[in-house]
Amino acid sequence: MGYVDEIIERAIAKNPGEPEFIQAVKEVLTSLRPVVDANEDLYRKEALLERLIEPDRQFKFRVPWVDDKGQVQVNVGYRVQFNNSIGPYKGGLRLHPSVNIGIIKFLGFEQIFKNSLTSLPIGGGKGGSDFDPKGKSDREVMAFCQSFMTELCKYIGADVDVPAGDIGTGAREIGYMYGQYKRIRGMYEGVLTGKGLSYGGSLVRTEATGYGLLYLTDEMLKCNGIDIAGKTVCISGSGNVAIYATQKAQQLGAKVVTLSDSTGWVYDPDGIDLDAIKEIKEVKRARLTEYRNYRPNSEYYEGRGVWTVKCDIALPCATQNELSLEDAKVLVANGCKAVAEGANMPTTLEATEYLQENGVLFAPGKAANAGGVATSALEMSQNSERLSWSFEEVDAKLKSIMVNIFHNMDDASKRYGFEGNYVVGANIAGFEKVASAMIAQGVC
Ligand code: GLU
Repeated sequence: MGYVDEIIERAIAKNPGEPEFIQAVKEVLTSLRPVVDANEDLYRKEALLERLIEPDRQFKFRVPWVDDKGQVQVNVGYRVQFNNSIGPYKGGLRLHPSVNIGIIKFLGFEQIFKNSLTSLPIGGGKGGSDFDPKGKSDREVMAFCQSFMTELCKYIGADVDVPAGDIGTGAREIGYMYGQYKRIRGMYEGVLTGKGLSYGGSLVRTEATGYGLLYLTDEMLKCNGIDIAGKTVCISGSGNVAIYATQKAQQLGAKVVTLSDSTGWVYDPDGIDLDAIKEIKEVKRARLTEYRNYRPNSEYYEGRGVWTVKCDIALPCATQNELSLEDAKVLVANGCKAVAEGANMPTTLEATEYLQENGVLFAPGKAANAGGVATSALEMSQNSERLSWSFEEVDAKLKSIMVNIFHNMDDASKRYGFEGNYVVGANIAGFEKVASAMIAQGVC
Protein backbone atom coordinates (compact mmCIF):
# COMPACT_ATOMS: atom_id res chain seq x y z
CA MET A 1 0.00 0.00 0.00
CA GLY A 2 1.29 3.48 -0.83
CA TYR A 3 2.18 5.96 1.90
CA VAL A 4 -0.81 8.21 1.15
CA ASP A 5 -3.31 5.32 1.42
CA GLU A 6 -1.70 4.11 4.65
CA ILE A 7 -2.13 7.54 6.17
CA ILE A 8 -5.74 7.85 5.03
CA GLU A 9 -6.44 4.48 6.70
CA ARG A 10 -4.67 5.63 9.81
CA ALA A 11 -6.76 8.83 9.86
CA ILE A 12 -9.96 6.81 9.53
CA ALA A 13 -8.93 4.42 12.33
CA LYS A 14 -7.80 7.11 14.75
CA ASN A 15 -10.56 9.67 14.25
CA PRO A 16 -13.89 7.83 14.53
CA GLY A 17 -17.02 9.95 14.29
CA GLU A 18 -15.22 12.79 12.49
CA PRO A 19 -16.43 12.52 8.87
CA GLU A 20 -15.62 16.10 7.90
CA PHE A 21 -12.05 15.73 9.14
CA ILE A 22 -11.62 12.47 7.24
CA GLN A 23 -13.07 14.12 4.11
CA ALA A 24 -10.53 16.96 4.35
CA VAL A 25 -7.62 14.56 4.96
CA LYS A 26 -8.66 12.46 1.95
CA GLU A 27 -9.03 15.49 -0.29
CA VAL A 28 -5.65 16.93 0.65
CA LEU A 29 -3.60 13.73 0.78
CA THR A 30 -5.04 12.30 -2.43
CA SER A 31 -4.02 15.39 -4.33
CA LEU A 32 -0.56 15.38 -2.71
CA ARG A 33 0.17 11.94 -4.19
CA PRO A 34 2.56 13.22 -6.91
CA VAL A 35 4.77 15.07 -4.37
CA VAL A 36 4.59 12.28 -1.82
CA ASP A 37 5.51 9.67 -4.44
CA ALA A 38 8.49 11.78 -5.51
CA ASN A 39 9.74 12.08 -1.90
CA GLU A 40 8.40 8.89 -0.35
CA ASP A 41 11.58 7.67 1.39
CA LEU A 42 12.28 11.01 3.05
CA TYR A 43 8.67 11.62 4.09
CA ARG A 44 8.28 8.09 5.48
CA LYS A 45 11.50 8.37 7.49
CA GLU A 46 10.36 11.74 8.82
CA ALA A 47 6.81 10.40 9.46
CA LEU A 48 5.82 13.65 7.81
CA LEU A 49 2.24 12.73 6.97
CA GLU A 50 1.62 11.14 10.40
CA ARG A 51 2.76 14.42 11.96
CA LEU A 52 0.78 16.50 9.51
CA ILE A 53 -2.60 14.91 10.30
CA GLU A 54 -2.17 15.01 14.11
CA PRO A 55 -2.85 18.44 15.66
CA ASP A 56 -0.12 19.88 17.88
CA ARG A 57 -2.79 20.08 20.60
CA GLN A 58 -6.52 20.53 21.05
CA PHE A 59 -8.49 22.15 23.85
CA LYS A 60 -12.09 21.41 24.78
CA PHE A 61 -13.71 23.38 27.57
CA ARG A 62 -16.96 24.22 29.34
CA VAL A 63 -18.51 27.62 28.62
CA PRO A 64 -21.15 28.48 31.22
CA TRP A 65 -23.12 31.71 30.91
CA VAL A 66 -26.40 33.21 32.17
CA ASP A 67 -29.26 33.94 29.76
CA ASP A 68 -31.73 36.84 30.00
CA LYS A 69 -34.11 34.79 32.13
CA GLY A 70 -31.44 34.14 34.72
CA GLN A 71 -30.99 30.54 33.57
CA VAL A 72 -27.46 29.12 33.43
CA GLN A 73 -26.59 27.73 29.99
CA VAL A 74 -23.63 25.50 29.16
CA ASN A 75 -21.88 25.31 25.79
CA VAL A 76 -18.71 23.53 24.70
CA GLY A 77 -15.70 25.52 23.50
CA TYR A 78 -12.85 24.25 21.28
CA ARG A 79 -9.49 25.42 20.01
CA VAL A 80 -7.36 23.17 17.83
CA GLN A 81 -3.77 24.30 17.35
CA PHE A 82 -2.89 22.25 14.31
CA ASN A 83 0.46 23.26 12.94
CA ASN A 84 2.77 26.20 13.66
CA SER A 85 5.72 25.34 11.47
CA ILE A 86 5.51 28.54 9.41
CA GLY A 87 4.01 30.97 11.96
CA PRO A 88 1.73 31.35 14.98
CA TYR A 89 -1.52 29.37 14.81
CA LYS A 90 -4.08 31.40 12.92
CA GLY A 91 -7.72 30.73 12.12
CA GLY A 92 -11.26 31.68 12.99
CA LEU A 93 -13.76 30.82 15.70
CA ARG A 94 -16.98 29.25 14.47
CA LEU A 95 -20.11 29.73 16.58
CA HIS A 96 -22.81 27.38 15.30
CA PRO A 97 -24.90 24.57 16.83
CA SER A 98 -23.30 22.05 14.41
CA VAL A 99 -19.79 22.64 15.82
CA ASN A 100 -17.97 19.59 17.20
CA ILE A 101 -14.35 18.52 17.40
CA GLY A 102 -14.41 16.86 13.94
CA ILE A 103 -15.59 20.03 12.25
CA ILE A 104 -13.01 22.15 14.05
CA LYS A 105 -10.28 19.68 13.09
CA PHE A 106 -11.33 19.70 9.42
CA LEU A 107 -11.27 23.48 9.41
CA GLY A 108 -7.93 23.62 11.26
CA PHE A 109 -6.37 21.12 8.87
CA GLU A 110 -7.52 23.06 5.79
CA GLN A 111 -6.26 26.25 7.42
CA ILE A 112 -2.65 24.98 7.45
CA PHE A 113 -2.50 24.89 3.64
CA LYS A 114 -4.67 27.96 3.11
CA ASN A 115 -2.46 30.05 5.36
CA SER A 116 0.67 28.74 3.67
CA LEU A 117 -0.77 29.68 0.28
CA THR A 118 -1.12 33.32 1.35
CA SER A 119 2.72 33.41 1.47
CA LEU A 120 2.44 35.13 4.87
CA PRO A 121 3.92 33.68 8.09
CA ILE A 122 0.87 32.07 9.68
CA GLY A 123 0.27 28.53 10.94
CA GLY A 124 -3.02 26.65 11.06
CA GLY A 125 -5.59 26.60 13.87
CA LYS A 126 -9.34 26.81 14.38
CA GLY A 127 -11.82 27.00 17.22
CA GLY A 128 -15.38 27.71 18.14
CA SER A 129 -18.37 26.52 20.07
CA ASP A 130 -21.79 24.94 19.62
CA PHE A 131 -23.28 28.25 20.86
CA ASP A 132 -25.89 29.67 18.48
CA PRO A 133 -25.80 33.48 18.35
CA LYS A 134 -29.10 33.54 16.41
CA GLY A 135 -31.96 35.00 18.39
CA LYS A 136 -29.73 35.92 21.35
CA SER A 137 -29.70 39.42 22.83
CA ASP A 138 -26.50 41.47 22.75
CA ARG A 139 -26.14 40.89 26.48
CA GLU A 140 -26.42 37.13 26.09
CA VAL A 141 -23.84 37.17 23.29
CA MET A 142 -21.54 39.23 25.51
CA ALA A 143 -22.01 36.84 28.43
CA PHE A 144 -21.13 33.89 26.22
CA CYS A 145 -18.12 35.62 24.63
CA GLN A 146 -16.72 36.69 28.00
CA SER A 147 -17.04 33.18 29.41
CA PHE A 148 -15.54 31.64 26.24
CA MET A 149 -12.55 34.00 26.35
CA THR A 150 -12.04 33.49 30.09
CA GLU A 151 -10.88 29.98 29.22
CA LEU A 152 -9.47 30.55 25.72
CA CYS A 153 -7.16 33.37 26.87
CA LYS A 154 -4.89 30.83 28.56
CA TYR A 155 -3.87 29.33 25.25
CA ILE A 156 -3.55 32.26 22.84
CA GLY A 157 -1.34 35.33 22.32
CA ALA A 158 -0.12 37.64 19.56
CA ASP A 159 2.90 35.38 18.85
CA VAL A 160 1.23 32.12 19.89
CA ASP A 161 -2.23 31.76 18.39
CA VAL A 162 -4.38 34.49 16.88
CA PRO A 163 -8.10 33.63 16.49
CA ALA A 164 -10.53 35.57 14.31
CA GLY A 165 -14.05 35.45 12.93
CA ASP A 166 -15.84 32.68 11.07
CA ILE A 167 -19.52 31.66 10.80
CA GLY A 168 -21.34 33.26 13.75
CA THR A 169 -18.35 35.31 14.89
CA GLY A 170 -18.36 38.84 13.50
CA ALA A 171 -17.30 42.28 14.67
CA ARG A 172 -19.63 42.24 17.70
CA GLU A 173 -18.33 38.92 19.04
CA ILE A 174 -14.67 39.80 18.36
CA GLY A 175 -15.18 43.06 20.29
CA TYR A 176 -16.58 41.31 23.37
CA MET A 177 -13.83 38.68 23.25
CA TYR A 178 -11.08 41.25 22.83
CA GLY A 179 -12.36 43.25 25.80
CA GLN A 180 -12.31 40.16 28.00
CA TYR A 181 -8.83 39.10 26.86
CA LYS A 182 -7.45 42.55 27.63
CA ARG A 183 -9.14 42.57 31.02
CA ILE A 184 -7.83 39.16 32.13
CA ARG A 185 -4.37 39.22 30.56
CA GLY A 186 -3.80 42.95 31.04
CA MET A 187 -2.27 43.18 27.57
CA TYR A 188 -3.19 45.32 24.61
CA GLU A 189 -1.87 43.16 21.82
CA GLY A 190 -2.97 41.90 18.42
CA VAL A 191 -4.33 38.64 19.81
CA LEU A 192 -7.46 38.62 17.65
CA THR A 193 -8.05 39.84 14.11
CA GLY A 194 -11.22 41.25 12.63
CA LYS A 195 -11.15 43.88 15.36
CA GLY A 196 -13.10 47.15 15.07
CA LEU A 197 -11.30 50.03 13.38
CA SER A 198 -11.29 52.04 16.62
CA TYR A 199 -9.18 49.46 18.48
CA GLY A 200 -6.62 48.03 16.08
CA GLY A 201 -8.66 46.52 13.26
CA SER A 202 -7.59 46.75 9.63
CA LEU A 203 -9.41 48.46 6.82
CA VAL A 204 -10.63 45.93 4.22
CA ARG A 205 -10.74 43.03 6.74
CA THR A 206 -14.56 43.06 6.66
CA GLU A 207 -14.65 42.89 2.87
CA ALA A 208 -11.55 40.76 2.45
CA THR A 209 -12.86 37.22 2.01
CA GLY A 210 -15.53 38.22 -0.51
CA TYR A 211 -13.29 40.66 -2.38
CA GLY A 212 -10.44 38.16 -2.41
CA LEU A 213 -12.72 35.47 -3.80
CA LEU A 214 -13.56 37.71 -6.75
CA TYR A 215 -9.94 38.81 -7.31
CA LEU A 216 -8.91 35.18 -7.60
CA THR A 217 -11.94 34.18 -9.69
CA ASP A 218 -11.36 37.09 -12.05
CA GLU A 219 -7.71 36.10 -12.52
CA MET A 220 -8.64 32.44 -13.09
CA LEU A 221 -11.25 33.43 -15.68
CA LYS A 222 -8.90 35.86 -17.44
CA CYS A 223 -6.17 33.24 -17.69
CA ASN A 224 -8.73 30.93 -19.29
CA GLY A 225 -9.90 33.57 -21.77
CA ILE A 226 -13.16 34.51 -20.03
CA ASP A 227 -14.26 38.06 -19.14
CA ILE A 228 -16.27 38.26 -15.92
CA ALA A 229 -18.16 41.38 -17.03
CA GLY A 230 -21.72 40.60 -18.07
CA LYS A 231 -21.70 37.12 -16.52
CA THR A 232 -24.50 35.75 -14.34
CA VAL A 233 -23.39 34.65 -10.89
CA CYS A 234 -25.16 32.46 -8.31
CA ILE A 235 -24.00 32.93 -4.74
CA SER A 236 -25.13 30.93 -1.70
CA GLY A 237 -25.03 32.28 1.83
CA SER A 238 -25.78 35.81 2.96
CA GLY A 239 -23.14 36.38 5.62
CA ASN A 240 -20.02 38.44 5.45
CA VAL A 241 -18.38 36.41 2.65
CA ALA A 242 -21.49 36.32 0.41
CA ILE A 243 -22.25 40.02 0.91
CA TYR A 244 -18.80 41.28 -0.08
CA ALA A 245 -18.47 38.72 -2.87
CA THR A 246 -21.71 40.15 -4.27
CA GLN A 247 -20.37 43.68 -3.95
CA LYS A 248 -17.09 42.96 -5.76
CA ALA A 249 -18.81 40.84 -8.43
CA GLN A 250 -21.12 43.77 -9.16
CA GLN A 251 -18.16 46.18 -9.27
CA LEU A 252 -16.54 43.90 -11.86
CA GLY A 253 -19.67 44.09 -14.00
CA ALA A 254 -21.24 40.70 -13.23
CA LYS A 255 -24.87 40.14 -12.25
CA VAL A 256 -25.50 38.26 -8.98
CA VAL A 257 -28.98 36.72 -8.97
CA THR A 258 -29.17 34.53 -5.83
CA LEU A 259 -28.34 34.46 -2.13
CA SER A 260 -29.45 32.04 0.60
CA ASP A 261 -29.67 31.54 4.35
CA SER A 262 -30.34 28.56 6.58
CA THR A 263 -34.07 28.57 5.86
CA GLY A 264 -34.37 29.54 2.18
CA TRP A 265 -33.05 31.45 -0.81
CA VAL A 266 -33.85 34.41 -3.02
CA TYR A 267 -33.76 34.78 -6.79
CA ASP A 268 -33.65 38.33 -8.08
CA PRO A 269 -33.67 38.38 -11.90
CA ASP A 270 -32.68 42.06 -11.90
CA GLY A 271 -29.61 41.47 -9.75
CA ILE A 272 -29.32 41.44 -5.95
CA ASP A 273 -29.92 44.79 -4.23
CA LEU A 274 -26.96 44.92 -1.89
CA ASP A 275 -28.21 47.81 0.26
CA ALA A 276 -31.34 45.80 1.02
CA ILE A 277 -29.30 42.71 1.92
CA LYS A 278 -26.97 44.72 4.16
CA GLU A 279 -29.90 46.24 6.01
CA ILE A 280 -31.60 42.86 6.46
CA LYS A 281 -28.49 40.92 7.46
CA GLU A 282 -26.09 43.41 9.04
CA VAL A 283 -28.49 45.87 10.70
CA LYS A 284 -31.66 43.90 11.46
CA ARG A 285 -29.97 40.47 11.71
CA ALA A 286 -33.17 39.16 10.07
CA ARG A 287 -34.08 36.42 7.58
CA LEU A 288 -34.02 36.61 3.78
CA THR A 289 -37.82 36.32 3.72
CA GLU A 290 -37.70 40.11 4.23
CA TYR A 291 -36.01 40.67 0.87
CA ARG A 292 -39.33 40.66 -1.02
CA ASN A 293 -40.42 43.72 0.95
CA TYR A 294 -37.55 45.59 -0.70
CA ARG A 295 -37.74 43.93 -4.15
CA PRO A 296 -41.27 42.83 -5.12
CA ASN A 297 -39.94 41.34 -8.39
CA SER A 298 -37.77 38.83 -6.56
CA GLU A 299 -38.74 35.28 -5.60
CA TYR A 300 -38.24 33.59 -2.22
CA TYR A 301 -38.11 29.80 -1.82
CA GLU A 302 -37.95 27.70 1.33
CA GLY A 303 -35.15 25.13 1.57
CA ARG A 304 -32.23 24.66 -0.83
CA GLY A 305 -32.16 25.49 -4.54
CA VAL A 306 -29.60 28.16 -5.43
CA TRP A 307 -27.72 25.79 -7.79
CA THR A 308 -30.82 25.13 -9.90
CA VAL A 309 -30.62 28.66 -11.30
CA LYS A 310 -28.82 28.97 -14.64
CA CYS A 311 -25.50 30.77 -14.21
CA ASP A 312 -22.02 31.20 -15.67
CA ILE A 313 -20.26 31.31 -12.31
CA ALA A 314 -21.21 29.65 -9.01
CA LEU A 315 -19.77 30.89 -5.74
CA PRO A 316 -20.73 28.71 -2.76
CA CYS A 317 -20.29 31.00 0.27
CA ALA A 318 -22.44 29.31 2.93
CA THR A 319 -20.93 26.24 4.62
CA GLN A 320 -19.35 22.79 4.16
CA ASN A 321 -20.91 20.21 1.82
CA GLU A 322 -23.63 22.53 0.48
CA LEU A 323 -22.94 21.72 -3.19
CA SER A 324 -23.65 18.03 -3.88
CA LEU A 325 -23.12 15.81 -6.91
CA GLU A 326 -26.75 16.43 -7.96
CA ASP A 327 -26.16 20.18 -7.76
CA ALA A 328 -22.97 19.83 -9.81
CA LYS A 329 -24.87 17.95 -12.52
CA VAL A 330 -27.45 20.73 -12.75
CA LEU A 331 -24.74 23.40 -12.89
CA VAL A 332 -22.95 21.59 -15.73
CA ALA A 333 -26.21 21.02 -17.62
CA ASN A 334 -26.93 24.75 -17.28
CA GLY A 335 -23.59 25.71 -18.84
CA CYS A 336 -21.76 26.88 -15.70
CA LYS A 337 -18.13 27.72 -16.53
CA ALA A 338 -16.55 28.22 -13.11
CA VAL A 339 -17.04 27.37 -9.45
CA ALA A 340 -14.98 29.12 -6.77
CA GLU A 341 -15.44 28.30 -3.09
CA GLY A 342 -16.02 31.23 -0.74
CA ALA A 343 -16.85 28.88 2.14
CA ASN A 344 -14.63 26.12 3.52
CA MET A 345 -15.15 22.82 1.65
CA PRO A 346 -18.68 23.67 0.41
CA THR A 347 -18.36 21.23 -2.51
CA THR A 348 -18.46 17.50 -1.81
CA LEU A 349 -15.60 15.36 -3.15
CA GLU A 350 -17.89 13.72 -5.75
CA ALA A 351 -19.23 17.09 -6.90
CA THR A 352 -15.71 18.50 -7.24
CA GLU A 353 -14.63 15.56 -9.41
CA TYR A 354 -17.74 15.83 -11.57
CA LEU A 355 -17.19 19.55 -12.16
CA GLN A 356 -13.53 19.04 -13.06
CA GLU A 357 -14.30 16.10 -15.37
CA ASN A 358 -16.83 18.25 -17.19
CA GLY A 359 -14.45 21.12 -17.84
CA VAL A 360 -15.71 23.53 -15.17
CA LEU A 361 -12.91 25.69 -13.74
CA PHE A 362 -12.81 24.86 -10.03
CA ALA A 363 -11.02 26.99 -7.41
CA PRO A 364 -10.91 25.28 -3.99
CA GLY A 365 -11.70 27.27 -0.84
CA LYS A 366 -8.23 27.08 0.61
CA ALA A 367 -7.10 29.25 -2.31
CA ALA A 368 -10.25 31.13 -3.23
CA ASN A 369 -11.27 32.24 0.27
CA ALA A 370 -7.76 32.88 1.60
CA GLY A 371 -8.23 36.65 1.30
CA GLY A 372 -9.84 36.80 4.75
CA VAL A 373 -7.00 35.22 6.64
CA ALA A 374 -4.43 36.99 4.44
CA THR A 375 -5.89 40.34 5.47
CA SER A 376 -5.90 39.11 9.07
CA ALA A 377 -2.16 38.61 8.69
CA LEU A 378 -1.92 42.17 7.36
CA GLU A 379 -3.85 43.28 10.47
CA MET A 380 -1.23 41.47 12.59
CA SER A 381 1.56 43.31 10.76
CA GLN A 382 -0.12 46.67 11.37
CA ASN A 383 -0.63 45.83 15.06
CA SER A 384 3.03 44.84 15.41
CA GLU A 385 4.26 48.09 13.93
CA ARG A 386 1.48 50.09 15.68
CA LEU A 387 0.45 51.71 12.42
CA SER A 388 -2.60 51.46 10.22
CA TRP A 389 -2.57 51.38 6.46
CA SER A 390 -5.05 53.05 4.10
CA PHE A 391 -7.93 51.17 2.46
CA GLU A 392 -6.20 51.43 -0.92
CA GLU A 393 -2.93 50.05 0.43
CA VAL A 394 -4.54 47.01 2.08
CA ASP A 395 -6.83 46.38 -0.88
CA ALA A 396 -3.88 46.49 -3.31
CA LYS A 397 -1.94 44.03 -1.14
CA LEU A 398 -4.99 41.74 -0.94
CA LYS A 399 -5.39 41.80 -4.69
CA SER A 400 -1.77 40.98 -5.36
CA ILE A 401 -1.87 38.15 -2.77
CA MET A 402 -4.92 36.60 -4.50
CA VAL A 403 -3.42 36.93 -7.97
CA ASN A 404 -0.23 35.28 -6.65
CA ILE A 405 -2.18 32.46 -5.06
CA PHE A 406 -3.82 31.75 -8.40
CA HIS A 407 -0.48 31.65 -10.21
CA ASN A 408 1.20 29.57 -7.49
CA MET A 409 -1.51 26.92 -7.67
CA ASP A 410 -1.59 27.08 -11.45
CA ASP A 411 2.21 26.64 -11.63
CA ALA A 412 2.16 23.78 -9.11
CA SER A 413 -0.53 21.98 -11.10
CA LYS A 414 1.59 22.30 -14.25
CA ARG A 415 4.83 21.24 -12.53
CA TYR A 416 3.27 17.92 -11.58
CA GLY A 417 1.45 17.32 -14.87
CA PHE A 418 -2.05 18.22 -13.65
CA GLU A 419 -2.54 21.43 -15.60
CA GLY A 420 -5.83 23.12 -14.77
CA ASN A 421 -6.46 20.96 -11.70
CA TYR A 422 -6.40 23.73 -9.11
CA VAL A 423 -7.27 21.36 -6.25
CA VAL A 424 -4.02 19.50 -6.83
CA GLY A 425 -2.19 22.78 -7.45
CA ALA A 426 -3.45 24.50 -4.28
CA ASN A 427 -2.76 21.54 -2.04
CA ILE A 428 0.73 21.03 -3.42
CA ALA A 429 1.65 24.72 -3.33
CA GLY A 430 0.39 25.02 0.27
CA PHE A 431 2.01 21.77 1.39
CA GLU A 432 5.51 22.28 -0.05
CA LYS A 433 6.36 25.20 2.23
CA VAL A 434 4.94 23.54 5.35
CA ALA A 435 6.75 20.26 4.59
CA SER A 436 10.10 21.93 4.12
CA ALA A 437 9.65 24.00 7.31
CA MET A 438 8.72 20.86 9.28
CA ILE A 439 11.75 18.94 8.04
CA ALA A 440 14.09 21.91 8.66
CA GLN A 441 12.87 22.21 12.26
CA GLY A 442 13.61 18.60 13.12
CA VAL A 443 11.42 16.16 15.03
CA CYS A 444 8.82 18.30 16.77
N1 GLU B 1 -12.38 32.09 9.30
C1 GLU B 1 -11.66 32.60 8.18
C2 GLU B 1 -11.07 31.45 7.40
O1 GLU B 1 -11.69 30.41 7.31
C3 GLU B 1 -10.68 33.69 8.58
C4 GLU B 1 -9.65 33.29 9.56
C5 GLU B 1 -8.75 34.42 10.05
O2 GLU B 1 -8.92 35.55 9.63
O3 GLU B 1 -7.86 34.12 10.86
O4 GLU B 1 -10.02 31.51 6.83
